[in-house]
Amino acid sequence: MNPNANKMKAAVLKGGSQVRNLRDFVLGKISMPRVQKGDVLVQVYACGFCQTDYKAITGKRALPILDDHIVGHEPSGVIVDVGEKVKDFHVGDRVAISPLAYCGECSQCRRGSAFTHYCQNAIVYGGDGPPKVQNGAFAQYIAVDQKSVYPIPDGISFEDAALLEPTAGAWKGLHNSEMGKGEDVVVIGAGGIGMLVALLAKKLGGGRVVVIDISQYVLSKASEWGIDHVVQPSEVTGKAAYTARDYQIITDHVCRLLGKQPDLVIESAGPPEAVGLMWNMVLSGRGIKGNVFGITTHEEIPVDCGKLHFAEPKITSSFNVSRYSLEQAMKVIEKGFRPSQIVTHRYRLDQIHDAVEMVSQPDRLKVMVYPNPDLYSGM
Ligand SMILES: [Zn+2]
Ligand SMILES: [Zn+2]
Repeated sequence: MNPNANKMKAAVLKGGSQVRNLRDFVLGKISMPRVQKGDVLVQVYACGFCQTDYKAITGKRALPILDDHIVGHEPSGVIVDVGEKVKDFHVGDRVAISPLAYCGECSQCRRGSAFTHYCQNAIVYGGDGPPKVQNGAFAQYIAVDQKSVYPIPDGISFEDAALLEPTAGAWKGLHNSEMGKGEDVVVIGAGGIGMLVALLAKKLGGGRVVVIDISQYVLSKASEWGIDHVVQPSEVTGKAAYTARDYQIITDHVCRLLGKQPDLVIESAGPPEAVGLMWNMVLSGRGIKGNVFGITTHEEIPVDCGKLHFAEPKITSSFNVSRYSLEQAMKVIEKGFRPSQIVTHRYRLDQIHDAVEMVSQPDRLKVMVYPNPDLYSGM
């Protein structure tokens, strides 16, 4: 008997402790996932490499489970098996997968499709967010609940489909921010998701878009892709890194570029200084919208309450994706938005450690992994 029958290639983060490191990240052959009644089995064609995956692999983020685990949560592929209760999907369907499976029955899910990311029984594929975790997609196959599956319209590539989830995250950030037509938007931090926010703001009818980022590579790409203004903080402040003392200098610079105050400022970077800069910009004007979008750590920033009173800002936030945002993002992709334009590096699954190394570098945007490169390499 062939010992490799029912086995698949996967990049496995070995278990034992919640905080893993690069030594625990190994390529190997493991048992194929089995479909439960409501699941589909998908042969993975493309999977985005998210910063969250990098944090888990390098020990910067604890996983809620001690078991061996497969990360990777931005996949697309083709259905090769369906559970007995699956009616709407069939073998051969091209699909994108959302990493968040919701129950559809709890009080949050019953509020509607815009609230599924609040699900009290949520499961996450690839391991970020809810405590219940199942294997992700840096593997040749993944089994997922049918509610996590979205058909890929004709003419849309597996790469664009794999980036449905980050596109939905960016769409939801702008939607929660209530960006109006023609409004000037500042995006602080334009790594993968921030760049999608900036590009989507233009696509969805925003006015001028200003991108602030510390990477010259990212800024040159932003200019190439039609972003109106790019700002590297060190060129404005003369310092390698900006702190609270530099917020006003950068704010003044942005207002000079626009000739007015911005209408919306979205923090999509992560460090508390980026949130501080967003607050400063918003509190420096009148009636400016701000969104706390990138930070996930538990830092506090001081707020001048008098300024807050007179500035009348409208502060929102956004995390994860809902079913509604995924459906809306697919419509935007159908109308010609191409998230794959931000893909700068592509790797086969057996080159996964090269992919990890690339994600650690500043001169890149989206990194993609191809678990079945004989079928689809995206190149
Ligand atoms: Zn992600
Ligand atoms: Zn639920």
